[in-house]
Amino acid sequence: MDPYLIDNIRNINKKVSEAAATAGRNPDEIKLVAVSKTVSAEVVREAVRAGLRTFGENRVQEARGKIEQLGDMREPVTWHMIGHLQKNKARQAVALFDLIHSVDSPKLLRVIDKEARRAAKTQRVLIEVKLSEEETKHGIDKSGLSELLKEAAGMQNVRVEGLMTMPPYFEDQELSRPYYAELRRLRDALRSEISGGLMELSMGMTNDFEVAVQEGSTMVRVGTAIFGARHTA
Ligand SMILES: *Cc1c(COP(=O)(O)O)cnc(C)c1O
Repeated sequence: MDPYLIDNIRNINKKVSEAAATAGRNPDEIKLVAVSKTVSAEVVREAVRAGLRTFGENRVQEARGKIEQLGDMREPVTWHMIGHLQKNKARQAVALFDLIHSVDSPKLLRVIDKEARRAAKTQRVLIEVKLSEEETKHGIDKSGLSELLKEAAGMQNVRVEGLMTMPPYFEDQELSRPYYAELRRLRDALRSEISGGLMELSMGMTNDFEVAVQEGSTMVRVGTAIFGARHTA
């Protein structure tokens, strides 16, 4: 087994546990999603050997290749879509991913529902919320969230399990905190409005997963701290 991977994973788990403890949370509530974009299937195989089971990808095509290459693994590995999803890739995404973190419009959700029905699947999804003004960030405006969730409640083949967000990049992770606190407040407010579900908060990356855990994250999406710096975007 790869000693670097094992070390990195151990370090992250320790930091997650410590952050959870400072917030009075049970660390078992927090899932580590290993972001394997740009990482080869062979390295993902090593990461599975090192104990990881959930991988996040941001491109359908790239994920499909890896999932095929790793189809012989005995360990039950699940894949999450964390990047922007185009409607014309929804069919493939439904076929490949256990959870889609990045639903950012009613139209996309409707297409996923349709494709999931076709595949006789209930697709688990999160709604990506845009909390910053950056032009480049995807996500639905928080003002549209309540309506989207009401529509989703009437859909047969999607289950909205929570919210995801991605703040702008900050050197100082404390600057991410207000975004994560806001997503949690939104989730809590909506949960009383919509019965069932909406438990998950997908928030926190390499540079800020500790504050995300302190603010209630249930899924941290960590790439660089596990696999090292990416050479391509
Ligand atoms: C790449 C990516 C991550 C992981 O980023 P790191 O800084 O490498 O941990 C998390 N979430 C999304 C949506 C990403 O695209």
